[in-house]
Amino acid sequence: MNKKPKVIFLSANAFSGSTIFSLFLGKHSNITNLGEVINLEHDYNENLICTCGDRVFNCTYWHEIKEKLNQSISKGLLNFSLSSNKKRSLIDKKGLSFKKLLILLGFSPQVVYGEESINNYIEKNINFFKEIDKYHNRSKYIVDSSKPPERLDILLESSEIDIYCIYLKRNLKSLFDSNIKREKKTRKIIGFKFYRELILLYFREKHRRKVFNKVKEGNKLTVDFENFKNNPQIEYSRVLNFLKCSPNSSNEFDRNLEIKKQHIYVGNRWIFNKKNEKIILETENTKHIKKEYFQTKLVDLVFKNYK
Ligand SMILES: [Zn+2]
Repeated sequence: MNKKPKVIFLSANAFSGSTIFSLFLGKHSNITNLGEVINLEHDYNENLICTCGDRVFNCTYWHEIKEKLNQSISKGLLNFSLSSNKKRSLIDKKGLSFKKLLILLGFSPQVVYGEESINNYIEKNINFFKEIDKYHNRSKYIVDSSKPPERLDILLESSEIDIYCIYLKRNLKSLFDSNIKREKKTRKIIGFKFYRELILLYFREKHRRKVFNKVKEGNKLTVDFENFKNNPQIEYSRVLNFLKCSPNSSNEFDRNLEIKKQHIYVGNRWIFNKKNEKIILETENTKHIKKEYFQTKLVDLVFKNYK
C-alpha cells in the first residue's frame, strides 16, 4: 500500500480563482483543503476566524494539528510551527526581490537559495504534509493552493510525497485586464505600471508552465477556469476522475459553497467576511478594458504563444 501523502498543488496566477476552486475540491469527503500552505506559519493568529466559523484558538482542527506539530518539533524534527510572530522563510517571501527575479528568469532554486536552505525547506514541508496525512489516517488528498511555482519546483525533488498538479488555466488577456483594473484605484492605468505588469505576467506564466511540465504524466491536469464556471458539472467530474475519487452524491453540481466543514484561515479574506452570505460560483463574464491601439497590439503579441 502506498503510504506517501498525496498532495494536490494548484498551479494558478494570483486572482485566478484558485481560492474558490480549492474550496470546491475541499467539499469532497476524500479531500482536505488547507488553502495557501505557504502562509500557514506566518499568518497564524489565534484571533483569526477559520472558515469553520470559530476563531483559530477555538477551532478543534487546528488545535489538534498544532499539538501534533509541536510534538514533532520537540523531537527535533524540522516542522511547521504554528505560533504568532513566525517569520516567513526567504523562499516564501512575498513581493519581487532580486532572488525572486532570478527565479523568474529561469535560475534554479538551488542556485538562488543554496542547497542547504532548499533541503531544509523540503524537509520541513514534507514533515508537515506527513503530519496532516497521519491525522487523516492517510485517507485523503491534501490541497495546497500556494501560488509561487518555485514551491512546486522545489517539492518535486522529494520522493516522499505523491504530487498531483492541477493547472488552473485562465485567459491571460482577461487576467491582465483585471489585474490592471484592480490597480486602478491607486494608480493610473497608463504608464510604467502597465508595462511592468505585462512583463511580469509574461515571465510568471512562462515559469509556471515550465514547472508544470516537470510533473509526471498522469499526475497533472489542466482545468480551464472559465469552463469550470460555465460547466462545473463536467469539469468537476473530470477532476474527480483524475483523482480517482467517486462523487459524493449523484446529484447535480451544487454551485453553493459549503465552507463550514473546511478549516482555512489563510489567503483571500473575502471568504471570511461573507459571514451570512452564501458563496456561489457564478458564470464567467469577461469585460475587457479599453486600451490604446499600441497597447492592445502589444498585449496580443506578448500572450500570442500562451494558448
Ligand atoms: Zn476551523
